[in-house]
Amino acid sequence: MSNTTNNRETMGFQAEVKQLLQLMIHSLYSNREIFLRELISNAADASDKLRFEALHNAALFENDSELNIRIGYDKTARTLTISDNGIGMSRDEVINNLGTIAKSGTREFFSRLSGDQQKDANLIGQFGVGFYSAFIVAEKVTVTTRRAGEKSDQGVRWESDGGGEFAIEMVDKVSRGTEIVLHLREGQDDLLSGQKIRSIIRKYSDHIVQPILMKKEEWKDGAQQVLDEDETVNKAFALWARAKNEIKDEEYKEFYKHVGHDFEDPLAWTHARVEGRQEYTQLLYIPSRAPFDMWERDAIHGVKLYVRRVFIMDDAEQLMPRYMRFVRGVVDSSDLPLNVSREILQESKDIEAIRSGCTKKVLGLLEDLAKNEPEKYAKFWGEFGRVLKEGIGEDHANKDKIAGLLRLASTHADTNEETASLSDYVSRMKEGQDKIYYITADSFNAAKNSPHLEVFRKKGIEVLLFSDRVDEWVVSNLFEFEGKQLVSVAKGGLDLGKLEDEAEKKEQENVANELKDLTDKITVSLGDRVKEVRVTHRLTDSPACLVADEHDMSANLARLLKSAGQKAPTSKPILEINPKHPVVLRLKTEENKFDDWVSVLFDQALLAEGGQLDDPASFVKRVNQLMLEMSGN
Ligand code: ADP
Repeated sequence: MSNTTNNRETMGFQAEVKQLLQLMIHSLYSNREIFLRELISNAADASDKLRFEALHNAALFENDSELNIRIGYDKTARTLTISDNGIGMSRDEVINNLGTIAKSGTREFFSRLSGDQQKDANLIGQFGVGFYSAFIVAEKVTVTTRRAGEKSDQGVRWESDGGGEFAIEMVDKVSRGTEIVLHLREGQDDLLSGQKIRSIIRKYSDHIVQPILMKKEEWKDGAQQVLDEDETVNKAFALWARAKNEIKDEEYKEFYKHVGHDFEDPLAWTHARVEGRQEYTQLLYIPSRAPFDMWERDAIHGVKLYVRRVFIMDDAEQLMPRYMRFVRGVVDSSDLPLNVSREILQESKDIEAIRSGCTKKVLGLLEDLAKNEPEKYAKFWGEFGRVLKEGIGEDHANKDKIAGLLRLASTHADTNEETASLSDYVSRMKEGQDKIYYITADSFNAAKNSPHLEVFRKKGIEVLLFSDRVDEWVVSNLFEFEGKQLVSVAKGGLDLGKLEDEAEKKEQENVANELKDLTDKITVSLGDRVKEVRVTHRLTDSPACLVADEHDMSANLARLLKSAGQKAPTSKPILEINPKHPVVLRLKTEENKFDDWVSVLFDQALLAEGGQLDDPASFVKRVNQLMLEMSGN
């Protein structure tokens, strides 16, 4: 698909890039100034990368270790130029970085877009905009770049009008780094002003560590004169190293957009200098919105590691536990060696101390939000609750804290909104109740309407409704909260303890004895489909239900494992029958069709809890036959 003249080649963009470009130009137009923030952010990253690589190979500096970013404009040519002396790009890197989007899940993300630009515009923030935002204001973009350390002065030029293609050619470039020239669209001429550009830089990029240089300007003879002298427009000082009380919220927010590659403001942040055995500064953010690739296995972890303000690595996954992969920000260590590598980090006790400190800090921030800004916390929970839940099984040391942060659906509100905390639950416990009851199912409705809840509803006892995949993981790791045991209502014999009085218990025993013959007969009829058949007092409306034995895996978990292609132990369920239900009473006298009745009873109990029938056709046939009989045929 490429077309060569001299050394100039034309190549097509990846389909998703084309989509992104179109969407961005339309959706971000009202916010067009952010293009400069994005390009400066990339230039700063390129400088960070160079400084880091130069730790191992000083030659990369090519005798010029003063890293900076320059912005210039040309009124006649109607261009803006952003240049850096950072790491630069090779030809292959240019093609990959500026012709494709190298993030896993990209294709899926784009396939979810509706084509309705208004709606899709809201999603673009989730994706992050980056380099391509240049096309919001430019009708043509020319990138000239040379990778640091390249022996000859061989550079690469990339050029595109943001249509379907870009051109690429080899050119001479003496200075290392990247220069981006924006040929402005009609109507963008207000950007060709030193004052305007300075105000955009100060608004969005003040926190950038590298100096952002512009030519000095002054008024002379009634006109603006550009002098041949540089000035630094931004503060050019690491934001996290400044004193907290000197940093404005706006500055924290803009810095977040740079480190978090996000378009929206963060939800909350925490900034602290930690002293003691390990000295480090942490500036950690919680985003407002989950990124599009949060569920991808190789989704990036967003915390950057610095050592004494030198950038060491992005995506330093060792700095945060997996269940906090939504956190973005910076950790700057005073003690680690500069030549620290991923391998060293994995083993390092120092990193362990930092991780545990950062984890506690984020949990503290979340507790604070939950207590003082419940609406914000609810928003957090909606975006990241499922990820945080993983921590119950993953982070033993902080399990209780995380449990306190859970927000769950329950029969109290009876909606699928997760609003109940375990403390709320405990405070609503009935007199005599000493356990926290829950049910797991594969959908909210299956949980909410489960026959297992009948007696609880009758007695007004709250039950937590778990219906997310990760919930099975939560309940198999969380055994108690504030000294109260968590108990599944679908497992083991139902012991309501003091919630039932002696008379009720006595009566249950009597009924069980009375129906002994029937339960024995059903056991024989079902054969090896059940472990046991017994009379229950769980049910008020349904004739029967299935429960898992105390120590067996819950049926829901077994189904989840199976659907994930994993082996699940095949433990048989216990069939419990409702001694007051007419269908059950009828069984006492049924002779001819006893086996059919029992089979239907079992199958519908299985269906009611979300299970699948082994032989659905036979079930349907039996039900039809029984219906015919009832109608007198
Ligand atoms: P992101 O920054 O989110 O990765 P971008 O679209 O902004 O996405 O940039 C894509 C890639 O292009 C960057 O990851 C980087 O590798 C490269 N790149 C962009 N600008 C520069 C630059 N000024 N110097 C070196 N590399 C750059």
